[in-house]
Amino acid sequence: TTAYLNGEFLPLQEARISPLDRGFLFGDGIYEVVPSYGGRMVGFSQHFARMEKGLAMVEIAPSLTEQDTRDICQHLIDSNRETLGENIGVYLHVSRGADTRRFHAYPEGVQPTVFAFAFALTAPVNADRTIHAGAKVAITQDLRWQRCHIKSTALLGNVMHFQQGYREGNAETILFNGDGQITEASSSNVFIVKDGEVLTPPLDNQLLPGITRMLVLACLQKAGIPHSESWFSVDELNSADEVWLTSSGKEILPVVQVGDKTIADGKVGPVWEQAFTLYSKLKFEL
Ligand code: PLP
Repeated sequence: TTAYLNGEFLPLQEARISPLDRGFLFGDGIYEVVPSYGGRMVGFSQHFARMEKGLAMVEIAPSLTEQDTRDICQHLIDSNRETLGENIGVYLHVSRGADTRRFHAYPEGVQPTVFAFAFALTAPVNADRTIHAGAKVAITQDLRWQRCHIKSTALLGNVMHFQQGYREGNAETILFNGDGQITEASSSNVFIVKDGEVLTPPLDNQLLPGITRMLVLACLQKAGIPHSESWFSVDELNSADEVWLTSSGKEILPVVQVGDKTIADGKVGPVWEQAFTLYSKLKFEL
C-alpha cells in the first residue's frame, strides 16, 4: 500500500524514520484516524481541527494546511482502495521529530515527522445492516493520565486497558474515574439511554473529544431526540436502557453486556436503531 512520509508518497514497506524520533522514544506526538466509506471521508475538517488543537497544546508547529492534509488523505484512500476495499481509515501522525540528545525538553529547530497511511476499516456495524447482536465489554477504573483530551500517540495506558478487556473476550473496556463516574472507554466514547434520554459525559480532561461523539450529538439534535452531556455513574450505566460506544472505527456500537451485568433485556435497543440509521444517512454531511 501507498503511505505518506515527510512530503512524499511511497510504498509503506519503504517508509523509514529515525530511531531517535521523539515519537518513538517519548510517545511525543499527536495522531488522528479519519474514517472513509466508498472513497468519502467522514468528519475530515473536525478531525483536522482536533489535530491542530492537540499540536498547539504540545507546542508542535503544524506543518500542513487543512487542504494539503485533506489532499494527502484523499490520495491515500484513492490509491489504496483496490487493495484495502471500500472502508478505509487514514492514520495521520505528527511527532516532534528526531533529536540526537535524549533530553526531555522540547528541542529547538527540529523538523516534525509527518506520517500517514491507510488501513482497512472493519466496522462492526455496516451501513446495510441496522440489526446487530450487541457487544460485550469490560469495565474498570481509569488508570491513565489526566490529559485524556489530548490525542497523544503515547497510548500505553489505553492499550493496557483495552487488553485487560480483550483477553477475556470483550470488545472494549469502559472506564470510570475515582468518583465512580463513567468517563469514556479505552478507544471510544460512551453513551447511555435512560427513559428516552441519551446521555454522554461532558467534555473535560478525563476524555477525548471524540469526533463520532460530536457527530452523533449533532444527529440527535437534528432529529429532536432528547439528549444531554451529563455525568453518570457505574450504577446508572448498569441500570440503563441502552449503552453505546462511538469511535471512528466503530461508528455507533450497541453494547448489551458490561462486565457480568446484562443491559436491560440484553437486546439492542430502539434508540440505537434510530441513532444509527440517522448517522448512516447524515455522516457525510456533518
Ligand atoms: N476515546 C479514546 C480514548 C479514543 O482513542 C478514541 C478514538 O479512537 C475515541 C474516544 C473516539 O474518538 P473518535 O470518534 O474521534 O474516533
